[in-house]
Amino acid sequence: MPEDNPCVSCGACCVTYRVSFYWAEAEALGLPEHLVEQLNPFYACMAGTNAAKPRCQALDGEIGSSVGCSVYAQRPAACHEVQAGDEKCNRARQRHGLPPLPTLTANSEA
Ligand code: SF4
Ligand code: SF4
Repeated sequence: MPEDNPCVSCGACCVTYRVSFYWAEAEALGLPEHLVEQLNPFYACMAGTNAAKPRCQALDGEIGSSVGCSVYAQRPAACHEVQAGDEKCNRARQRHGLPPLPTLTANSEA
């Protein structure tokens, strides 16, 4: 993850949403069993995210300060879908008292 990536000092989405995926995705990605919670015969989620106050158990560090994903290379598609500056990102940041990020576009040079 590049050092100028705002995610390294955030982590809000990892403590806001349930990160669910088709069960077979966990096996295909090689996610450790203890980090996966089965929801039903078809779906699973990252452990810790199916809670009233979610916190993905793969997340290290302190929200809004310094964080890292211990399974970054294997993280499920749902994690890739949240992009810094998109609506889901800024909703999560707001929930954790962090200022919104400017919306990033494909043409952005910032
Ligand atoms: S909420 Fe946004 S900035 Fe924070 S970690 Fe998620 S995608 Fe990155
Ligand atoms: S797997 Fe990594 S990127 Fe996805 S929610 Fe957990 S800590 Fe965040």
